[in-house]
Amino acid sequence: MSSIEGRAPLSTVDPVLHELIRREEQREADKFRLIASENYASQAVLDASGSCLTNKYSEGYAKKRYYEGQQLIDEVEELAKSRIASLFATPLLDEKSVHVNVQPYSGSPANLAVYLAFVKPGETVMGLGLPAGGHLTHGHTVSITGKFFKSVPYGVRRTDHRIDLEEVRKLALEHRPKLIWAGTTAYPRALDFAAFRSIADEVGAILAADIAHISGLVAAGLHASPVGIADVVTSTTHKTLRGPRGGMILCKPEHAAAIDRAVFPGLQGGPHNHTTAGIAVAALEATLPSFKAYAERVVNNAQVLANALLERGFSLITGGTDNHLLLIDLTPKGIGGKPYAQALDRAGIVCNYNAIPFDPRKPMDPSGIRIGTPSVSSRGMGASEMLALAGFMDEVAKDQSEATLERIALSVKELCSKFPAPGLRV
Ligand SMILES: *Cc1c(COP(=O)(O)O)cnc(C)c1O
Repeated sequence: MSSIEGRAPLSTVDPVLHELIRREEQREADKFRLIASENYASQAVLDASGSCLTNKYSEGYAKKRYYEGQQLIDEVEELAKSRIASLFATPLLDEKSVHVNVQPYSGSPANLAVYLAFVKPGETVMGLGLPAGGHLTHGHTVSITGKFFKSVPYGVRRTDHRIDLEEVRKLALEHRPKLIWAGTTAYPRALDFAAFRSIADEVGAILAADIAHISGLVAAGLHASPVGIADVVTSTTHKTLRGPRGGMILCKPEHAAAIDRAVFPGLQGGPHNHTTAGIAVAALEATLPSFKAYAERVVNNAQVLANALLERGFSLITGGTDNHLLLIDLTPKGIGGKPYAQALDRAGIVCNYNAIPFDPRKPMDPSGIRIGTPSVSSRGMGASEMLALAGFMDEVAKDQSEATLERIALSVKELCSKFPAPGLRV
């Protein structure tokens, strides 16, 4: 222990926790990480988010804080906001006009702020239903958003599993929602924000686009942007955008005051300044050519993997992907999503079991898995690694014996060792 209290490293102070983190680092190095919402934050993002900025209280906004000593925090937050504004500005809403709030603690609190800004308890909201690939916070019954508001979920078509915009329009005309969400968490296709806009206009609803999963693709120009189309855009900062765990809101200038008030003092106390700093770093990194190349790999890898899996007899919801994720229906493979995901995990391939639209099985034991390519793409993997991965996935679908899973886990580890991951020291 160092003679001055609090200056010794974690390894000295808490060897138990230090060892757990070291082992998690090794796990993240050795596996194919295919959870669609996960990624590898860069060392620079980790440095900023692990900094002394965690020490500072800053309730309020720049120049309007409730505590003194904000000289540098104000600069950090304004830097994060201006970088996010320039990254996400569009011809419809330029850098000077787009309002940014980087204080939400994560994606769910960002969405709650949208409700608080625009909807009163008991009023009607619409979002994509959870079983169709929507998010809990878009009005699902188990979420506060489904309990405090009247939720009218829309779905996907039975025939092609794509969002049924005709149904969205019909439901909107019938139920006159105050707020419509356009955003997904397990949907492999691009969203048509302009179509949602015209439906929202027809019924006088606020349109909120939730780009939590795809914000990195939007920043890189690989998915159409809702900025300037939707009234308000929410996102996480840690998924494809590859920043620290956090949330953010972008909106048109006329909604700036309502959004800021909803975040603070409406929902939160002091912002997490260390996270704000990490967001500033991620926004800078997202302007680099290497980020564009990463985002292109994300989409190409998803398509290569989709085709390779189709060739091996896997069934993909919607038949493929436009973005970073695939939703696989395992029915033709004769295995449930949960036992398959568990077997894959033992083989060094980490994903999540997931319900498919109109799933005949139960949510805790559904028919599908969801896989995403952000993490493998961040470590530089490309088409040939995706082909190898498809081969491993096919083997595991056929044979879940311990010997097979162990053999594949070794091959996965060997392959992964050639692709050092951002932010890891192994
Ligand atoms: C991940 C996600 C969220 C929630 O983000 P958290 O940071 O987990 O709270 C919200 N909306 C969508 C569409 C998401 O995918």
